[in-house]
Amino acid sequence: MITELLSSFSEGEAAALAGQAAVRLGDWYRDNARRLPWREKEPAESYPYRVWVSEIMLQQTRVEAVIPYYRRFLAAFPDIPSLAAAEDDKLRKLWEGLGYYSRARNLKKGAAYLMERGGRLPADIDGLRQVPGIGAYTAGAVGSIAFGLPEPAVDGNFLRVFSRLLAAEGDIARPAVKAAFRELLRAAYASLPEGLPAGDVNQAVMDLGAGVCLPKNPRCADCPIRKLCAAAQREQAPLFPVKGEKKPRRVEEKTVLVIVRAGEVLLRQRPEQGLLGGLWEFPNLDGKLPAPEAAAWLEGQGLTPEGLVPLPPAKHLFTHIEWRMTGFLTLCSGSVPPGWQAADRTALRERYPLPSAFKAYRKAAEKEINDEPV
Ligand code: SF4
Repeated sequence: MITELLSSFSEGEAAALAGQAAVRLGDWYRDNARRLPWREKEPAESYPYRVWVSEIMLQQTRVEAVIPYYRRFLAAFPDIPSLAAAEDDKLRKLWEGLGYYSRARNLKKGAAYLMERGGRLPADIDGLRQVPGIGAYTAGAVGSIAFGLPEPAVDGNFLRVFSRLLAAEGDIARPAVKAAFRELLRAAYASLPEGLPAGDVNQAVMDLGAGVCLPKNPRCADCPIRKLCAAAQREQAPLFPVKGEKKPRRVEEKTVLVIVRAGEVLLRQRPEQGLLGGLWEFPNLDGKLPAPEAAAWLEGQGLTPEGLVPLPPAKHLFTHIEWRMTGFLTLCSGSVPPGWQAADRTALRERYPLPSAFKAYRKAAEKEINDEPV
């Protein structure tokens, strides 16, 4: 399997190089580790839980963006039992703006699963992989950092650093290539020197990938493994990792309706499953609709619009989808349609989790609605 990624080294040479790099990275980490709230080891009994929460939050999200969310989340849900009992809307509100909301849902599902099995995270990789929402990367991160297991945590940073170290030609989008890196590093971690935990090496790779081995302009002069790094020696670092062509995002047109009724804005909840599952939204329709069609739809919901004012277009990128939105602001009379909610500014801010996809329209709504219940 390891042959999937090698072109410059034999399997034995690659394993030796990865082992030497792991030791240097571990040494470098001792003096250069970033101080991050989830790296506080005390209280020890909740450390695995805190590492788990942080690793889920950090997926696809920058460290600086995560820190305030992490602190608020831990203040609300300091341990597995409190997360398992979390109220869904409170959980979503605490995640509002962080994106990839299924992560919050899966964390709660994972906590509920653990509560049925003693209320603790398992201290072995197979056990961790059974927890809902924990995949190979998170199991490696939690297992190595919180429990000292000799397991790599293979994410984008990891693949970039080790692809460059080995000038590896394998396409990192292919599962076989990821598996080959995991296998290679597992072998290297099995023979780390006494006193160097694999968790330190994994965290060193995270820090190196975030600040030194950058995707576009790696700072090789500051890198602790530059003398070992095949890509740097050949001055080819930006050519690695090798990545296949990404599929273009699917474009979806939407017409978003900011409906103000009696000083409050109307919201509806998205279906529990699927994109932005369970979050609240401004009612919206597929396609780019002209004002008369949008007005007719509102009337079909039992509302009477007093004209529709166009709002500027907006765009939001998800991993595989791009929303291109146009919108209308409308003042309406009539009853609140079943299942919808009317929110004043305080409720919009504090009660209803609204995804950042609607950021542009939220501003338009906030200008029109009252601060307090009317
Ligand atoms: Fe990345 Fe450069 Fe370090 Fe190689 S030497 S791992 S390319 S920063």
